[in-house]
Amino acid sequence: MQRIAAILLSISTLLFVACGGGGDGEAKKTRFIAIGTGGVTGVYYPTGGAIAKIINRNTRRHGLKATTEATGGSVFNINAVLSGDLDFGIAQSDRQYQVYNGLAEWKGNPQPRIRSVFSLHSESVTLIASDPSDIWTPADMKGKRIAIGNPGSGHRGNALDALWASGISLDDIIPEDLKPAECAGMLQDGRIDAYFYTVGHPNGSIKEAVAGTTPVHFVPIVNIDTLLKKNPYYTYAEIDIGHYQGVSNQENVPTFGVKATLVTSSDVPEEVVYTLTREVFANFDDFVNLHPALSGLKKEHLLEGQTAPLHPGAERFYREAGLME
Ligand code: GLU
Repeated sequence: MQRIAAILLSISTLLFVACGGGGDGEAKKTRFIAIGTGGVTGVYYPTGGAIAKIINRNTRRHGLKATTEATGGSVFNINAVLSGDLDFGIAQSDRQYQVYNGLAEWKGNPQPRIRSVFSLHSESVTLIASDPSDIWTPADMKGKRIAIGNPGSGHRGNALDALWASGISLDDIIPEDLKPAECAGMLQDGRIDAYFYTVGHPNGSIKEAVAGTTPVHFVPIVNIDTLLKKNPYYTYAEIDIGHYQGVSNQENVPTFGVKATLVTSSDVPEEVVYTLTREVFANFDDFVNLHPALSGLKKEHLLEGQTAPLHPGAERFYREAGLME
């Protein structure tokens, strides 16, 4: 009997230690949080990974453990956050505006529970074509095979807007629904003529497209003024060709852009969002060093470009840190 009691005692001690009890300070119950990112050759995927890495360094102290998921991108992430399948998701600022106001994929169906946490890097609407496709201006896309983005991506909407601004309809091209991770290889093989990707630079997809034997180039977007007048969430942008050795362009390429943002839902507890925000800000230098597309980011940029109301957990942190009145 005594033996059994001793065994039971040591099992419960083991469990207590395994759950983070004892030692320094009180035991924190671990709460898992899932962060939706994008395709593996984009910037969302490593950015989500960078956030998770920072969170998981101190799980024992604050109790959060983050996992990341490769996903179809912004629209998928927003919907998964709203349904509770994900706790956080990275999403383009234009998509944040649209879901909150009931536009585009959410036409007539605004989602008031969407919440912003912070902004991340800038993303530019990127149209990359093979030199043999002979697409040098958007009008040349007529009759060509163009990857406009998978459903669930953020960039599909930007591709449609860029086509519209060029006076081209979907009937004028052969549209493909490919995921970004498939596009670089297919561009190289000549199975597509060009693809759209709204993404931070540099990124793995464009690096892969540029590194192949088929020469490729960025196509400048036209009528950007008209696009900006019609859509309050777009800004002027430029692709810095210095990121891509071997691309055929001689100059930086004009386009329009958005910001990547981190979103959550009003259903996620204040403490969870507060902790995530605090940890990322406290480790900001490490965070921006984890991917070159994050390198230009400053703390003050993180509060720009959000449309949905701030989550109260993020707001609490910004007030405490003196970043907000
Ligand atoms: N902007 C893209 C999207 O929303 C994803 C870009 C990335 O993964 O870096 O689908």
